[in-house]
This record gives sequence, C-alpha cells and structure tokens, in this order.
Amino acid sequence: MSDAPFDLFIIGAGSGGVRAARMAAQRGARVAVAEDAALGGTCVNLGCIPKKLYSFAAHYAESFEEAHGFGWSVGASTFDWETLKANRRVEIGRLNDVYGELLAGSGVTLLRGRARVAGRHEVEVGGVRHRAERIVVATGGWPVAADVPGGERAISSNEIFDLARFPSRLAVIGGGYIACEFASIFNGLGAHVTQLYRGEQILRGFDRDIRNHVAAEMIKKGVDIRVGAKVRALEADGDGATRVVLADGSSAIADAVLYATGRVPNTAGLGLEALGVALDVNGAVVVDDRYRTSVSGIYAVGDVIDRVQLTPVALAEAMALVDDLFGGAERHVDYLHIPTAVFTHPNIGTIGLSEDDARGRFEKIRVYRSEFKPLRHTLSGSAERTLMKLVVDDANDRVVGLHMVGADAGETIQGFAVAMKAGATKAIFDATLGIHPTAAEEFVTMREPVASS
Ligand SMILES: Cc1cc2nc3c(=O)[nH]c(=O)nc-3n(C[C@H](O)[C@H](O)[C@H](O)COP(=O)(O)OP(=O)(O)OC[C@H]3O[C@@H](n4cnc5c(N)ncnc54)[C@H](O)[C@@H]3O)c2cc1C
Repeated sequence: MSDAPFDLFIIGAGSGGVRAARMAAQRGARVAVAEDAALGGTCVNLGCIPKKLYSFAAHYAESFEEAHGFGWSVGASTFDWETLKANRRVEIGRLNDVYGELLAGSGVTLLRGRARVAGRHEVEVGGVRHRAERIVVATGGWPVAADVPGGERAISSNEIFDLARFPSRLAVIGGGYIACEFASIFNGLGAHVTQLYRGEQILRGFDRDIRNHVAAEMIKKGVDIRVGAKVRALEADGDGATRVVLADGSSAIADAVLYATGRVPNTAGLGLEALGVALDVNGAVVVDDRYRTSVSGIYAVGDVIDRVQLTPVALAEAMALVDDLFGGAERHVDYLHIPTAVFTHPNIGTIGLSEDDARGRFEKIRVYRSEFKPLRHTLSGSAERTLMKLVVDDANDRVVGLHMVGADAGETIQGFAVAMKAGATKAIFDATLGIHPTAAEEFVTMREPVASS
C-alpha cells in the first residue's frame, strides 16, 4: 500500500466498475469510484433491466390473445405508456439506491462527476484531483450516432425508454440484438414497427438457422423487417413524423426513429491518449489478458475494452482483475462458450459456435435440429414455432454449439451452459433424462443428425 489516499480509483459505476469497487474494498483496498450519471451504468439504467421490463410488458398482448384458447374471456385491453414508464422509473430508482448502499456498505468512496485521467496516478473529478496507486477505466460504451442527413431526428436506445409519446409507428434502423429486441418490444406494445437493416439477414454473427427462424417469427408477429435496406436520409414529414428514405428510393414513415447500429467505447475526453494509453481504431482501450493497458498502473474492463459487450462479461473481467491485484491470484476470464439471450419475441438463447463457425473450425461436425409447435400453442391459437439446434465436434463428440429460438430460451439454456463448460459430449446429452413435458427436453432427445460433414 502506498501513501496515495486510494489503492484503486475506478472511473464508471456501471456493471464492471461497481463489481470491481466492492470486491477490492472487501479485500481491504481503499477504493474510490467516480460516476457522472445514475449508479449501475447502462445495464441498470438504459439496458438489460429496463429492456427486460418492457419486454415483459410487451408479452401481455400475446397472453391476452392466447388466453381465449384456454377458456378465458379477457375484455378489451388497453396499454398505458405513462404507467409503464413511471413504474420502470420507480424500480430503477430503487436499484440505483441499492447500488449506492452496496458501495457505501463496502466502504467505497463515491465521487459524483465526470472524471478524467490527469496522470498515471491521478484522476480529476469536477476540478479536484485525487491520487491513487492504480486506476481502472470502466466507462462502458455509447450508441453510435445516426450518420445520415437528418440524423438528428433519430433517437438512440438511451432515449427510447422515456419517449414523451408512445410512437404508433416506430422505425428501427439496425439488425443487431438491441435493434431486434426493441423492434419486438414495441411491436408487442402495439406500435407498427418497421425494421430496416442493410445486410442480408438480421443478427449477423448468430447461427444461420436461428437468424432465419427468428426473423420469420418476428414477421409473423407483425414486425415489418426489410433487409438490404440502406438508409439515405431522415426527413421531416409533417406533424412531427419522420420519413426514412432508403437508397432504393422507397421510404417508411414513423413517429420515432430508433438508430441502433452499434455502440462505441466511451473513451472520448478521458485523457487516456495524452498519457500514452493505447486505444484501437474504435477507441477501445487496448488491454492484455490481465486487463493491463499500455501504461503501467492503468487497467480497463467491460464494454470500454470492446471484447464482448455483456454485463456478465464485465462482471467476470472486474472480478478477475481484482483477484489479480488484491487476491494474489492471476486469473483469466474464459471467453469460450459465453451463453447469451436475445429478448426478441420469441427469445433466442445461444451458447458456443454457430454451425458455420464450427464447420470452419473442425474437420467434421454433426448438426441436430428440431423445429416444432410448442405444447402451449396447440391451444393458444398462436402460430409461433420453436427451434432447437445442437452442433457437435465429431472428433470428440463434444457439444460446441447450442441454440434455441422459443419462449424463455435464456432461462432454458443457462443450465446447458454449465454442461458445455464442463465439456459435455453428445453421448452425455443422450444419457440425460428429459423433463416432460417441456421444450427443453428436446435438447436431450434429438437422436438423428440432420447434417454431418
Ligand atoms: C439497450 C441495451 C440492452 C442491453 N441488454 C443486455 C442484456 O440483456 N444482457 C447483457 O448481458 N447485457 C446487455 N447490454 C449490455 C450491458 O449493458 C453492458 O455490457 C454493461 O453495462 C457493460 O458494463 P460496463 O461496466 O462496461 O459499462 P456501463 O455499465 O456502461 O458503465 C459505465 C459507467 O461509466 C460512467 N462513465 C462513463 N464515462 C465517465 C466519466 N468520464 N466519468 C464518470 N463516469 C463515467 C457511465 O455513466 C456509466 O455509468 C445491453 C446494453 C444496451 C445498451
């Protein structure tokens, strides 16, 4: 321990920053964390949590419809945007307080204000300099701004939760998971949603069957997905509406336009370059496998290093760093088989390699696939279908990819992620008894490969 007042100074009280602060303080370190917005960062305030709450809200519309097939009579339903926004605010406010209490309870000094790295051992917050032995940059990411004429007419995911008026027509630009989730959510809440994506299919990087299946399901539910759609400009169209003009001359009119084409690391104005901290072309902080930047004593974790932009990854990186710095144990995050869910309607759950990636990596693979109408929808009247898929490395029988589109796919696959982490083979899947009647049992009952090469 040095004579600097803090052993660790963390910039950003989001997923990674708060976890690092608490863990380090619990290990006896003197810790400060600076935050210029609400505690909890993107996940709590503008990401995972409010999005999932809105996704729950959107599912009710389907539930009311489906209830008829089970004998229920549900009267005319109406949706009140103001109630959802207000209740979300209360819950997020509660979480902000919980984060504050967790930091205070761990003895972490919280400094409110925008922070800047002023020296190798110095951070400036609101004009005051603080000395620290080590600095961790955990400033997360920020949505890419709309880069077309009229781009100022668009909003980002930061603004969508609090739109003053519910958009009866929403245009979503982008094909990544955030774009798809908001397209599903606002469609479920009753908006007419047009999703415009310039690529050939939404959700680039996901398994091909998953992409095609979820796109078809979203279209069935009413999302107007247009692929190969390159936005040329956003223009005023009277009454506050916006016309999204496409390169092929066609257009879509919307009350709100959500630009969700990606996120960039939050490093602008942090003073890192002046200090010689290496950044990549996207502005991400370059770190080694122990989250050390190119300047000794300065570290970075989470979205700002732009490896995998997910909360559990930021948490894992923060804990590995703290163990390394204060626990005497060099620990590395294993980025293989990260399970993830996409809260489209229906949900996606995925772990490991897509069929195409596995084909490129292994000499021979086997693919198992099952597509079916879930039991619930035999009476619900819904035409939704579930897809499940396993990708197996033929050389050692290991399951290297597991994918699902269907209700609660994220809940379903978490347990399978443990099995895959443990190196489960297809033979072990086969030897596992199913839970009947569930959709999940399909993962342990698929016997015949649909492809093998
Ligand atoms: C719409 C959306 C939905 C998402 N859904 C999911 C999901 O379902 N599951 C999932 O795992 N992940 C999801 N994510 C991603 C997840 O939110 C991030 O991966 C996670 O929050 C990253 O944590 P972090 O600590 O790196 O950064 P953040 O949580 O972004 O925290 C960074 C913090 O630093 C603060 N900060 C930045 N600069 C400064 C400065 N100079 N001074 C002081 N403070 C500063 C910011 O205000 C912020 O609070 C979603 C993201 C978005 C945008």
